[in-house]
Amino acid sequence: MKKELMHEINNKLGELSAAETKSMNAYAEDYKKFLDIAKTEREFSAEAQKYLEQNGFKPLESMESLKAGDRVYTINRGKGVIAAVIGSKPITEGVSIVGAHIDSPRLDLKPNPLYEDGHFAYFKTHYYGGIKKYQWTTVPLALHGVATLQDGTQIQIKIGESDGDPTFMITDVLPHFAKEQMQKKLIEAIPGESLNILLGNAEYSGGKDNDIKEKVKYNIMKLLNEKYEICEEDFISSEIEAVPAYKARDLGFDRSMVAAYGQDDRVCAYGALRAVADIKRPNYTAVCLLVDKEEIGSIGNTGMRSRHFENILAKIVYKRVEDYSDLKLRDTMSNSFCLSADVCAAFDPGFPEASEKRNAPVVNGGIGVMKYSGSGGKSGSSDAGAETMASLRRIFNGSGVKWQAGELGKIDGGGGGTIAGYVANLDIETVDVGVPVLSMHSPYETTGKLDVYMAYKGYKAFFER
Ligand code: MN
Ligand code: MN
Repeated sequence: MKKELMHEINNKLGELSAAETKSMNAYAEDYKKFLDIAKTEREFSAEAQKYLEQNGFKPLESMESLKAGDRVYTINRGKGVIAAVIGSKPITEGVSIVGAHIDSPRLDLKPNPLYEDGHFAYFKTHYYGGIKKYQWTTVPLALHGVATLQDGTQIQIKIGESDGDPTFMITDVLPHFAKEQMQKKLIEAIPGESLNILLGNAEYSGGKDNDIKEKVKYNIMKLLNEKYEICEEDFISSEIEAVPAYKARDLGFDRSMVAAYGQDDRVCAYGALRAVADIKRPNYTAVCLLVDKEEIGSIGNTGMRSRHFENILAKIVYKRVEDYSDLKLRDTMSNSFCLSADVCAAFDPGFPEASEKRNAPVVNGGIGVMKYSGSGGKSGSSDAGAETMASLRRIFNGSGVKWQAGELGKIDGGGGGTIAGYVANLDIETVDVGVPVLSMHSPYETTGKLDVYMAYKGYKAFFER
C-alpha cells in the first residue's frame, strides 16, 4: 500500500536483480571504452557512423524510398548524427525522437594560437561552454581536432592520449606566491586569457635559419609541419580542442560510479545511439538525434536551432509517403514526441546548498525526468505538459525503467537549459530525460552506473512505445 501511495527519490542500486546488475556492468564497460575513443563531437560523430553501419544502417541518400524496418542515417558536417529506424505506422502519426548533444565544454585553440614567451611556446585558447576556469589548470590535456588545408585536405589531429604521447598543460602559480591570487574571487583568479597551453621549451637549432627570433615557437611549428604537414596559417582553418587526457574509470571501492571527461552529454548520446541500434521494427519511426553546439546556445548549422533537423525529417517523410506535401511534414512534426536526452545536476551532499533536496535527482536513483529547466521563474524553459509527463510515466513504469523526477538546482540559484525548448518550438511534445551528474562541466565528471544504464533502457523503451 505504501509503495503505491508514495513516491520517493532514493538510491535504487539494491532494487536491481542479479541479471540486471550484470547487464548494467557490461554496458558500463562498453560506455567507458566509447568515452575514451570519442572525446569530441567530430570523434563521436565518426564513431557513431561506424557503429550504425555495423548495425545495418545505410546513408539516407542511398535510399530511394523507405519502408517499415529500414535503417538510415545522415551525418551533419562531421559534427552531428541523425539515425532512424522506420516504423510501421504512417509517419504522419509522428516519430519518436531521442535528442542528445555531443559537444562538451573544453578549450578551443584561437585562430592565431601559437606564440612564444619567456622561452616557452604556448597555444592561446578560447574556452567553449560554461567552465570553472580554475579547474582547467595543471590538468593533463590532449589535443584533438582537424586542420583543413586550403585545398580541402583534412588532417586529423589527436595527440596526448596514447601512453607514449607527450601531454600538454596550463600552469598555475605556486601556493607560496599565490597570496594575491588567493584573495581573488574564483571567477577572477584564473582569467580566460591566462588559459594558455604549454607546448615546449626547446629552441630550433638545425639549419642556417639564424635570423629566426622566436626559436622555441619556430621549433614547435617545424615539428607540427613534420608530423601534420601544416603551416601557421592552417590554424585559421582548423578546429583543435584541448580536452582532459584522463581515461574513463570506475569510481569507488564498489565501482558503482563512472568518472570521465565529457559525460555531459555523451552519457545520454551513447544511450540514444545504443538504443536506436537495438530497435528492429518500431510502431513509430525511432529517431536518434545527436547535435553539436548545445554548450554555447545551440546556434549554427550543427546546433539544434538550425533547420537541419527539419530538412532531414522532410527527406525521411518524402521517402516514406506516397505523395509528399508540406502538410505531411507539418503533421509528422506536430504528432511527434521527443525525449531531450541531456544530463541533470545530481544532489551533492558536499554542496547541499545548490539543490533543493526534495526535488534533486540522486546518483543511482534512476534516469532523471525534468518537466522543466530554465532559471528564475522557469524562464527559458519549455515546461513539458502534464499529459506528456503521464505518457512518459506509463512508458517507463511499464518497462521496468528506474527513474526519478526532479528539477535543475534550487530556485534562484542559477539555471540552465537544454535543446528541449528548441525541439518543442517545432511543435513537438518534448521533455528532458537524462542522467544525473556530479561536478558537471568539470574536467572529470561523475555519474552512477544504474543511471547510465537506465538512460539506455529508458530511451529504448521510449522507441518501443
Ligand atoms: Mn548537456
Ligand atoms: Mn552542459
